[in-house]
Amino acid sequence: MNIHEYQGKELLRQYGVAVPNGKVAFSVDEAVESAKALGTDVNVVKAQIHAGGRGKAGGVKVAKNLDNVRTYADEILGKTLVTHQTGSEGKEVKRLLIEEGCDIQSEFYIGLVLDRATSRIVLMGSEEGGTEIEEVAEETPEKIFKEFIDPAVGLQGYQARRLAFNINIPSDLLGQAVKFMSGLYQVFVEKDCSVAEINPLVTTGDGKVMALDAKLNFDSNALYRQKDLLEFRDLDEEDPKEIEASKHDLSYIALDGNIGCMVNGAGLAMSTMDIIKHYNGDPANFLDVGGGASAEKVTEAFKIILDDEHVKGIYVNIFGGIMKCDVIAEGVIAATKEVGLELPLVVRLEGTNVEQGKKILEESGLNITAADSMADGAQKIVELVK
Ligand code: ADP
Ligand code: MG
Repeated sequence: MNIHEYQGKELLRQYGVAVPNGKVAFSVDEAVESAKALGTDVNVVKAQIHAGGRGKAGGVKVAKNLDNVRTYADEILGKTLVTHQTGSEGKEVKRLLIEEGCDIQSEFYIGLVLDRATSRIVLMGSEEGGTEIEEVAEETPEKIFKEFIDPAVGLQGYQARRLAFNINIPSDLLGQAVKFMSGLYQVFVEKDCSVAEINPLVTTGDGKVMALDAKLNFDSNALYRQKDLLEFRDLDEEDPKEIEASKHDLSYIALDGNIGCMVNGAGLAMSTMDIIKHYNGDPANFLDVGGGASAEKVTEAFKIILDDEHVKGIYVNIFGGIMKCDVIAEGVIAATKEVGLELPLVVRLEGTNVEQGKKILEESGLNITAADSMADGAQKIVELVK
């Protein structure tokens, strides 16, 4: 789960990580009120969307007075921001963060993420803050420093100091930098983060170390024990199809292609996407209906897939293990009838009672193309959506 920058900063503050004063605003008037309440000479008006790269896209503006705040708030609210992280359709700005302007001396990058290779949380830092860290990683990887954290003892002071030293944080600010990193690590662990990224962390003219941006992502599988985070959820930022899917306990992720996929089991769903790609097709989604999918679930899944106007055909690839193929076939038929499916549909069944399942599909009189194997089905659906 993703949250907004202002919410991330609220959390960071609770953990003693320094952030500028700021207030969220949902309207232009509120933005001006917030700026007044902050009482600083310079304020920054920042678009709040679940994507980075806002600065370059015109979503971060420095306001020198209240009139400026009004002008920029008016300009940014309601605007659709297109950044390198939003995709071409962009994201509409519905909230602003009005924040005290900061006298930036230098910008750094600090991030925490789980490193799968070492199974440890890794603290990363770079002197090249403010810019896209992906570019730094690509072009000058030697400018990124890492500290792997032993889970038994947590982030050690010497590691934080070594990192701060490596990225050239001024020596008189080392203490603050270490406190900053420790706080960030604590948030990461206690709140079950999957990513905690501060880009930029800044040093200021008056000798402070602060987070000017905050990107916190949380492991959705841990939300059952992080109930307080749920109030940060912003459904406006999520794909409506994904919200609907989560209500029915379906794992659904929208993608850019035109072949809707309905699969049971995450592994099979991944390989189905791969094989579609292999035959030069483009999956429109990842969808795992789960091991014990009922006819109702299959119907909901069809509806969600069909809600995506880009879908030109559907590939059902089901392994009848816990569920039997004949039951699945009945479910597919019921669902296609209920939603009045007109698009090409390819079904590949394998597993228990596969022969009965195929027979039911054949005798249904519906326009269903049966496939003999996963590859066969992928080729067929790719051909049909052309
Ligand atoms: P994004 O990463 O989405 O572009 P940031 O929050 O990192 O958004 O802001 C982009 C840039 O704007 C920062 O690198 C920083 O230079 C500037 N900036 C952001 N917040 C402030 C602030 N409170 N005071 C001064 N400058 C800021
Ligand atoms: Mg940033």
